[in-house]
Amino acid sequence: MVGGGLTSFIGPVHRKAAGIDGEIELVCGAFSIIPGESKATGEALYLDPSRVYETYPEMFEAEKKMPPEKRIDFVSVVTPNHVHYGPSKMALESGFHVIVEKPISFNLDEAKSLQKLVAKTGLVLGLTHTYTGYPLVKEAKAMVAAGKFGKIRKVYVEYPQGWLSTLLEGTGNMQASWRTDPKQSGMGGAIGDIGTHAANLAEYIIGSEITEICALLNTVVKGRLLDDDSSMLLKFANGATGVLLATQVAAGEENNLNIRVYGEKGGLEWKQEDPNTMILKWLGRPKEIIRAGQAYLTDDAKRFTRTPAGHPEGYLEAFANIYREFTKAVRDHKPGKKFNLAKYDIPGVDDGVRGMTFVQTAVKSSGSTRKWTKLK
Ligand code: NAD
Repeated sequence: MVGGGLTSFIGPVHRKAAGIDGEIELVCGAFSIIPGESKATGEALYLDPSRVYETYPEMFEAEKKMPPEKRIDFVSVVTPNHVHYGPSKMALESGFHVIVEKPISFNLDEAKSLQKLVAKTGLVLGLTHTYTGYPLVKEAKAMVAAGKFGKIRKVYVEYPQGWLSTLLEGTGNMQASWRTDPKQSGMGGAIGDIGTHAANLAEYIIGSEITEICALLNTVVKGRLLDDDSSMLLKFANGATGVLLATQVAAGEENNLNIRVYGEKGGLEWKQEDPNTMILKWLGRPKEIIRAGQAYLTDDAKRFTRTPAGHPEGYLEAFANIYREFTKAVRDHKPGKKFNLAKYDIPGVDDGVRGMTFVQTAVKSSGSTRKWTKLK
């Protein structure tokens, strides 16, 4: 693991999620940029001290030299955005598979460079767009693909959070500090941090890509250097249109990612804060409520369900679903043979490039007087 020191946010979530199925063992890491924290993290996790490194270049150098049965199979990159490209590139060049946090990189050039490197090395790169891991999101995707709602016409995706409603970065909060710093986060603030999740979720469920956007990015909190609020109109390749709202200044909101999708015959509604319930809406007949874990769901949803109906599954299991699919890809990978990640239900480098294209286009659109800006 690169990043994920004791005081970090998402690294510990990855460790828990990766551990759920018992297929993955954490053996080494360069866990932190904070002096002494990598060592302390290794100690807390009972790792072999000789495999706890101060920097990730040291880690890859040392791991590369180990006998194949001992060295790492893959690396999880869970650092701030500006430290995604370096370790991911070094891992691929050292022959290791990669699972990396979103957004895939600091800018679009880095994302494209990783795309080339994945093609060249034939290694597996997974991207943790967590929300695609939920069983009912799988169900939503399967229902849309099966034509249950007819042709899709409308998508509303919202991602309101409230935790950046004040100048939290001014208090030294680590997570707020790098997210609002253009040198660490990239050209997007909220749009990169959570807008990319919302765009990815919409594209994943309806199976069609966003082609054009009309965006308004705001910086609401005085003194902040990047956007903390965004609203945009969307056009999709399949002819649907949509609305995407991503904000971190909706005071009082926690992590209220939610999506509504409507076709000719009906629609669906799913909320991340109540992830085991999905509402189906039908033209001319009553609404239905479907629940995770039930026998009536498609195999796509059942395959990603671990607990019986009524026993809540959530964030960690959704994350674990990404790890399980990634692990399957890594196990199936044959060195020297061309590898196709599309056979696995996990976001990859192409989604990463799309995410960075989305961020760049949103910033461009917001600064432009043109109504529509194409995602190129
Ligand atoms: P954080 O600030 O809590 O943790 C970052 C960690 O990386 C820290 O331990 C820090 O010391 C370490 N680090 C920084 N530079 C390093 C370096 N050069 N070498 C080794 N370690 C280094 O950040 P976070 O909130 O955990 O976010 C990390 C990444 O995860 C971000 O890209 C963020 O967008 C993403 N994220 C994704 C989700 C999701 O739902 N998929 C949720 C939260 C965060």
